Amino acid sequence: MYENQILSEKPAHSQGSARAGWLAAAVALPLMVTFAAYGVAEFGPRESIHVTPVTTTLEAPELVARIADTPFWREEVIRSGDTLGALIARLGVDDDAAKDFIRTDTAAKPLYELHPGRVIRAQTTTDGHLLQLSYVTAAGNQITVRPAGSGFRVNQAPAEMARGTSFKSGVIHSSLFAATDRAELPDEVTRQLISIFEGEIDFHRRLRKGDRFGVVYETYTLDGQEQKTGRILAAEFVNAGRKLSAVWYESRPGDGAYYSLKGESLKKSFLQTPVEFSRVSSGFSMRFHPILKEWRAHKGIDYAAPTGTRVRAASDGTVTFVGRKGAYGNAIEIKHQGAYSTLYGHLNGFASGLRAGQRVSQGDIIGFVGSTGRATGPHLHYEFKIAGNQVDPSKLNLPKSRTLDPREFARFRPYSDQMQAQLNLLARVELARAD
Ligand SMILES: [Zn+2]
Repeated sequence: MYENQILSEKPAHSQGSARAGWLAAAVALPLMVTFAAYGVAEFGPRESIHVTPVTTTLEAPELVARIADTPFWREEVIRSGDTLGALIARLGVDDDAAKDFIRTDTAAKPLYELHPGRVIRAQTTTDGHLLQLSYVTAAGNQITVRPAGSGFRVNQAPAEMARGTSFKSGVIHSSLFAATDRAELPDEVTRQLISIFEGEIDFHRRLRKGDRFGVVYETYTLDGQEQKTGRILAAEFVNAGRKLSAVWYESRPGDGAYYSLKGESLKKSFLQTPVEFSRVSSGFSMRFHPILKEWRAHKGIDYAAPTGTRVRAASDGTVTFVGRKGAYGNAIEIKHQGAYSTLYGHLNGFASGLRAGQRVSQGDIIGFVGSTGRATGPHLHYEFKIAGNQVDPSKLNLPKSRTLDPREFARFRPYSDQMQAQLNLLARVELARAD
């Protein structure tokens, strides 16, 4: 009986650990493959790569190869409490002239800005004479010491950053920002994510528990440490079961936009929400619910948001009214293409210098949320009109956005397929983690 029990338990145990092992492999392996295949490789068509002109990019494998090919390079990670003298000794530098120079020359001073975790490198001859000492300061300057004539010389230049990509995904449980924080998505990338999808998703009113996102974005690193983020290259957002995808694509150099997998531009003729969706304004409506009314009751949409939240032009157009307007309080009206116009009410204030007759572009800040006029709390009253009559914009088929022509789509397709594969992989990893 006792023996039987042990026998019957054993297979269950080994099954359990085998499953755990498989899961771990499923999570770890595809990511490694991904990084090897795409992590630092160039992404898509050359003209679609956005590189800021101030930095020269150096791909990481190139850097590693260069170091490996050259004999006697050593590198040390700076530890807390390290001195430059101790580091130079650990780097195998046995060169009194070099040590004297580094100790006394004012140009070598930045070498003393030691930060734990950063890397310092040296190249020496077999008997320890210094050929090159290299260190990138926290400010991003590469300090290099080399022999010159009978002495040494210090060179200081902006360090070369390696361009790579990062993949992050998350599921919304309480709020979008809680989810992006948990996914460790940088705020600047979160801002881009919202901006990409806000033509399709009303972030103030339509986010649901269980919504999820995946993002592929550019990163710039120095010595393996992320220095800054670049553009989102691809993203997806599943909102209330509806999956939206976006891929950055430049049809001509410098003329890029986000497109759906069908090649339709995600830039819509009208924003879903004129109120900027931010860490502060998100979730505000929950605390301020009583002010929300049915659209039918007063022919507008109310967006509860803290006083001072930025209000943006819903579309390109011309300002036709700025000022006090009865129950609307401080209000702005904008005339758009065709017979469309929009009205923004109860504002706390206007963007400085805003006046009637001024041209505005979609997304321009025009004013700030307030509670002027007949309002019981801070909110934006937003009206969407056709030929002067209020309509519910969510029930309209608004003008179509730009679509890639067949020739462009043929170039776009392989690139978007590759991005889609990345995002699918991310989603699988996220699912495995949630299991
Ligand atoms: Zn209202």
